[in-house]
Amino acid sequence: MNKPGPIVRYRLDAYDRIRSVSEDWLAFARRNGAAHLDESVVGQSIWRFIDGRETRELYRLLFERVRDWGTPVSFPLRCDSPEQRRYLTLTIQPAEQEGLELQTETVREEPRPAVPLFETLLGAEGDQLTVCSWCKRVLVNGEAWVEAEEAIERLDLFGDAPMPNISYGICPACKASIRATLEEPPPLKST
Ligand SMILES: [Zn+2]
Repeated sequence: MNKPGPIVRYRLDAYDRIRSVSEDWLAFARRNGAAHLDESVVGQSIWRFIDGRETRELYRLLFERVRDWGTPVSFPLRCDSPEQRRYLTLTIQPAEQEGLELQTETVREEPRPAVPLFETLLGAEGDQLTVCSWCKRVLVNGEAWVEAEEAIERLDLFGDAPMPNISYGICPACKASIRATLEEPPPLKST
């Protein structure tokens, strides 16, 4: 399955509050079992929905950069559902009145056997497990970042052990790539 998916958009105001969400965004949330994400998110701070100290810090830097320079940034992101690996491109661009528009475009989706890891965020009581917010790889034994399927095998998560608590962080590869985006020189103004 390689058909490109919908482009979903939402906008933030100057204070990072969600100003509007596109119809596609609502449909995307419903299809992905996030039906609690409906029009009621409008008016709420985006920071309520971004987990992990380091991830929040990088988003803050990216937002600041887009506002300061008035030019968009784009980078790859994973947003999996239990049965699908989903590769997205996230673009953050300036919008009117110091706002921002965030747009995600599905680049490709790959079906896989259902991975329970991302369904069990609630009620989890096992060990703490760190997942990269950007590529969704999982930190195994404090040393290797691997795909969820491999983590489940290596950690025997299908065994009797309780499902782990998940905390969000960032893996070294994603950190390097976001840092590189932040360090790119500003484009030359053509005017
Ligand atoms: Zn990563």
